[in-house]
Amino acid sequence: MHYSGFKVIKEALTGHKGWKPAWRDPQPQDRYDYVIIGGGGHGLATAYYLAKEFGKARIAVLEKGWIGGGNVGRNTTIIRSNYLLDGNEPFYEFSMKLWEGLEQDFNFNAMVSQRGVLNLCHTDAQRDAYRRRANAMRLNGVDSELLDAEGVRRMAPFLNFDNARFPIKGGLLQPRGGTVRHDAVAWGYARGADSRGVDIIQNCEVTGFRIENGKVTGVETSRGFIGAGKVGCAVAGSSGRVMAMAGINRLPIESHVLQAFVSEGLKPVIPGVITYGAGHFYVSQSDKGGLVFGGDIDGYNSYAQRGNLPVVEDVCEGGMSLMPMIGRARLLRMWGGIMDMSMDGSPIIDRTDVDGLYFNGGWCYGGFKATPASGWCFAHLLATDTPHDTAKAYRFDRFRKGLMIDEKGMGAQPNLH
Ligand SMILES: Cc1cc2nc3c(=O)[nH]c(=O)nc-3n(C[C@H](O)[C@H](O)[C@H](O)COP(=O)(O)OP(=O)(O)OC[C@H]3O[C@@H](n4cnc5c(N)ncnc54)[C@H](O)[C@@H]3O)c2cc1C
Repeated sequence: MHYSGFKVIKEALTGHKGWKPAWRDPQPQDRYDYVIIGGGGHGLATAYYLAKEFGKARIAVLEKGWIGGGNVGRNTTIIRSNYLLDGNEPFYEFSMKLWEGLEQDFNFNAMVSQRGVLNLCHTDAQRDAYRRRANAMRLNGVDSELLDAEGVRRMAPFLNFDNARFPIKGGLLQPRGGTVRHDAVAWGYARGADSRGVDIIQNCEVTGFRIENGKVTGVETSRGFIGAGKVGCAVAGSSGRVMAMAGINRLPIESHVLQAFVSEGLKPVIPGVITYGAGHFYVSQSDKGGLVFGGDIDGYNSYAQRGNLPVVEDVCEGGMSLMPMIGRARLLRMWGGIMDMSMDGSPIIDRTDVDGLYFNGGWCYGGFKATPASGWCFAHLLATDTPHDTAKAYRFDRFRKGLMIDEKGMGAQPNLH
């Protein structure tokens, strides 16, 4: 069923009787050519591109809960491609280009809104670092602008410019950055994949792998054994647990909670996405008016999808320091998601030592913006057994070879990436 303005008007005039479910609820089959574990953004996008771009059939996505229940529906919706390093920038720009045509591509309104992402700087050294990053972006053909304090003031006059400790000296703006409605991304990919024959099987937890002579032959699930030619694992915060079932126990990934916050609805005030450079705090405003904000991960490993109060306090302090008016807004809701924090802050899209088993993870706080490119590149790897050009650096062996893609130069400390 094609969605269009004409369809909306027709249904409005005829009692909304013509809408069909956006995807089926199929029973699992005995065997598929491709089984994708994880019905988050990355798993669904992988299945979509496997079917659409690589012409593959007999594909299933297995999701232990409901699609959109993981990080894809829990993030703060920011998209951007303002990276410094060559290992990252072409990949995230590929993703940005896919975002720009995504709604037409999968015929679903995901509310892609390119309102700009502004990173504030508060010291001369930070401004120099941003200048370097802005130049690196331009060398990769990506839009970037350096603003001075007056330029920032014109965009966001409500910020605390003259804070004696953290004065705002300027900012790095990516005008094409912005936000996308996160759960609509899951729904759009699910609908697109389903319409191309992909079975999306919810309430189907993978509980083990069947591996014979070093090759994966299928997965054990809460709904029985499902045979598979190839298995792709895209379970984000559960990466360590799921890969351990295949005997892969030493992933360079830790799981941490990240929290998000939404205020009551306010009149439009925040022009795009603004990130604080002197603390970990970032904010945007949703179409319903809520201020959507967040900050650091909780300081311990966890698989709980909720966080603790010390980080709440830390995030709110960051907000108050940057824009004191936020203290008058009431908090409406907050939640947590489990982050797959890699040791250099960059992701992994690679084969594993088990023949036929492929891995996608290590997205840290930044995997939502990567969703389209991650799906495309993972599908490329699954379909062709070769990495996509923009994801060549995202290999497991970079940790062994010392070829880390440490975007912030922080070393193996997850909370600093
Ligand atoms: C609070 C918060 C804010 C964030 N903000 C941003 C942001 O602004 N911008 C950005 O780019 N990124 C952001 N992120 C990160 C981003 O959301 C994630 O990196 C990305 O969504 C992870 O990929 P995914 O969508 O596939 O994960 P998920 O949606 O978590 O999908 C993984 C799925 O695997 C399923 N699963 C797990 N184990 C099994 C099993 N055994 N069997 C079957 N299924 C299983 C889970 O139920 C889950 O649905 C944020 C994350 C959080 C939590």
